[in-house]
Amino acid sequence: VRQFIVGGNWKMNGSRGTVSTLVKGLNEASLDKNVEVVVAPPALYINSVVETLKVGQVAGQNIYSESKGAFTGEISAEMLKDVGAQWVLLGHSERRHVFGEDSKSIAKKVKHALNTGLKVMYCVGETLDEREANQTTAVVFEQLQAVADVIQDWSQVVIAYEPVWAIGTGKVATPEQAQEVHHAIRQWLADKVNAQTAEATRIMYGGSVNAGNCKEIGKKADVDGFLVGGASLKPEFIDIINAQL
Ligand code: 13P
Repeated sequence: VRQFIVGGNWKMNGSRGTVSTLVKGLNEASLDKNVEVVVAPPALYINSVVETLKVGQVAGQNIYSESKGAFTGEISAEMLKDVGAQWVLLGHSERRHVFGEDSKSIAKKVKHALNTGLKVMYCVGETLDEREANQTTAVVFEQLQAVADVIQDWSQVVIAYEPVWAIGTGKVATPEQAQEVHHAIRQWLADKVNAQTAEATRIMYGGSVNAGNCKEIGKKADVDGFLVGGASLKPEFIDIINAQL
């Protein structure tokens, strides 16, 4: 059985004040005990969230693929570990599309994060043009293959399927559209990695998830969680964590 997992990607939002309000809201909420909760604050706030959040784990939103050195502006997997974060998001579409990261450099980060002992939420997903050109699975499989080329053990990896056209747009994938791609990803894992990995690996859906649409999507057989952007900054995040109740 795959434990349901809900992540909150806060992206580049918040202040000391709103961060402490968000943490307080989570700590005081009544949350489904069967759900693993992970929040990804902006790097500057990770330390304070690790120290104050009692009901979940903390992720970085990015790392560089080296341990230390002359890489101005970057943070390392080792630094995340040092301040008590247990996860890192990698391959997010904003990293791929706004910052031009390619699958190969992202795969290096995945490998480095795992070697450092971080767990990875690896994000994949197609643009609207790619979907309309029937390239969805080709794109997603290429993104997965880049990682499969450099790692063997997927036990500390969670895959987040985030169709780019659904991120921040209010255009959520239908439960059927999500299930179709999640199932294809699981089949890909069975074909390219192994059956045990396919069975055990959690696949989260992300893209305009909210309190209103999460229950139906979460019922699908291959949907094992959500990666939430905008709604993770609102009290509604608690309803999304509790979608299975
Ligand atoms: P939204 O939930 O704001 O669409 O963002 C999804 C996302 O990118 C999570 O990583």
